[in-house]
Amino acid sequence: MTVLVFLDPAHPHGRLADPAQPSILATDQGVTRGDGIFESMLAVDGATRKIQAHLDRLATSARTMDLEIPAAELWQAAITTALTAYSVSDAAATGEPGQCVVKLVVTRGPEGANSPTAWVTVSPVSLALAAQRAKGLDVLLLERGYDSDISARAPWLLMGAKTLSYAVNMAALRHAHSQGADDVIFTSGDQLVLEGPTSSVLLAHISDDSGVPVKRLITPHLDTGILPGTTQGALFAAAKAAGWELGYGPVTPADLLDADAVWLISSLRLLAPVNTIDGQEIGTPEIRSELTAELSGLLAQTL
Ligand code: PLP
Repeated sequence: MTVLVFLDPAHPHGRLADPAQPSILATDQGVTRGDGIFESMLAVDGATRKIQAHLDRLATSARTMDLEIPAAELWQAAITTALTAYSVSDAAATGEPGQCVVKLVVTRGPEGANSPTAWVTVSPVSLALAAQRAKGLDVLLLERGYDSDISARAPWLLMGAKTLSYAVNMAALRHAHSQGADDVIFTSGDQLVLEGPTSSVLLAHISDDSGVPVKRLITPHLDTGILPGTTQGALFAAAKAAGWELGYGPVTPADLLDADAVWLISSLRLLAPVNTIDGQEIGTPEIRSELTAELSGLLAQTL
């Protein structure tokens, strides 16, 4: 099902490994401390989407945590090796047809070794993501516990880096599921909207306060310590060309409830409309589905 390729100085195109066999040392700091970074991206028909944006963000995450990582060309070569192996494996027969998830991971490596461990996996895209896009999401607002200016004051919190320490994000999702919801939007201690545990947040207005038609997309400001979403970035570029007005937060929970539509957006899920937030419906089913179709079309052009 999964193809695994290690980045290895002795193998410039990457070293294929058996994902069913143990291959990470028990002392690896990625395992013992969650000390590492990752990227997840979509590949369609063998081509990775937004590869440069993901490699750039990986490099930024590495700089944020003083981690030396392999050069971009080595990642590119390992990704090619992994995608080639995947397309000839039976894995391509499961999940969404023609699509797969390419994941890049790099850890601080085994304790005392001063040598990062880096690998690429390719695996099927969960069919559940397609269902989310079609059906929409019921979302809870949950506190993340930091004020929105924490990123500048406390860089050691690694806000805005895509680190392996996702246990809190996964716990927030389990909490939402236990309450009958599908996903989460985090808020800051000072009550601003941040992001989902695995997604960026986007809202749209199609009329202004006096009822005049507008086309306005808004996402929370990056200063709040959120991850800069590559999918949100790609959609904004396409939406601007299509005449949408673009804005960056601050976004409050009241702004979300007042929007004509809200989405969670990410590389794998793409654009999933939010039906309700804390039980309150966002916009109407017709407007949600109309806008989702329009923006999904724009996003598809850019990918
Ligand atoms: N925010 C967080 C916390 C994420 O984990 C992700 C993606 O996994 C995103 C935002 C969306 O990023 P992208 O659009 O680059 O997938």
